[in-house]
Amino acid sequence: GVSQLKGQSKPRYVRVNTLKMDVDSVVQELEKHYKVQRDETVPDLLVMPPGSDLHAHHLVKNGRIFLQGKASSMVAAALQPEAGWEVLDACSAPGNKTVHLAALMKGQGKIIACELNQERVKRLEQTINLSGATNIEVFHGDFLGLNPKDPSFAKVRAILLDPSCSGSGTITDRLDHLLPSHSADNMNYDSMRLHQLAVFQKKALAHALSFPQVERIVYSTCSIHQIENEDVVSSVLPLATSFGFKLATPFPQWQRRGLPVFAGSEHLLRMDPVEDKEGFFIALFTKTNKLDNPKS
Ligand code: SAM
Repeated sequence: GVSQLKGQSKPRYVRVNTLKMDVDSVVQELEKHYKVQRDETVPDLLVMPPGSDLHAHHLVKNGRIFLQGKASSMVAAALQPEAGWEVLDACSAPGNKTVHLAALMKGQGKIIACELNQERVKRLEQTINLSGATNIEVFHGDFLGLNPKDPSFAKVRAILLDPSCSGSGTITDRLDHLLPSHSADNMNYDSMRLHQLAVFQKKALAHALSFPQVERIVYSTCSIHQIENEDVVSSVLPLATSFGFKLATPFPQWQRRGLPVFAGSEHLLRMDPVEDKEGFFIALFTKTNKLDNPKS
């Protein structure tokens, strides 16, 4: 169908799992059969021509590379967790960003990967096994139910929050409106669903802000809707400010920023769903950890 045709013109992205192999060695290996370039934004991401089919490639099978899109790969990179930190991945399955965090942290420190859905916990565990990461602790449960004051989270310094969203930035979803079934009833259903998602997204982001030692939070969606993106961020800003957080600018060289709907939205990052690109959104909150700057 249409989505297949579209899919053929999309460049293929692969993220190198630097826990298992370095970027140069992967490039050397892939160059035997493919045209390979380094992505200009994410250091461990490679770009290959449309139609490159790597699903059965041995580097994929043994977890040395992950078939992970550019949007998805920018999220953990925006968080910039340091080796040795404790990091919480709030909504983690199937775990692509979780294992990216592990790679960025060079396998050191600890990652707590929280996931509500039992079936998806299994996929998360498979992804973790494939990645070779040994510092990820899976927690099957509701992120909103975690007590930020619990001693087990006392050292958490960064949170990646990639909650359930409408997925309206992904190609298949954008083609849905071309189908005849998109009646007035469906439209109504869609707006109710968006509203429910946004309620959860706001709660989850407010919850993330309340963890005492956290100094970096990334909020991301693969949605193009303002209600799931800028509106979620602006609704928690007063709370964020009261905890000492500010909006920071992930990937400052990136052109497309948030919709200009509130002061500070220029810090936000958007990708437009045009031609070969997915639609997605990233917000980065940071605060200066007083323990690191005893003189200030
Ligand atoms: N970050 C993942 C990745 O890159 O592979 C994708 C995450 S997906 C967009 C959102 C996930 O959040 C789903 O697996 C969903 O089951 C989970 N989820 C939804 N509500 C949750 C909650 N209250 N607590 C924890 N996980 C939740």
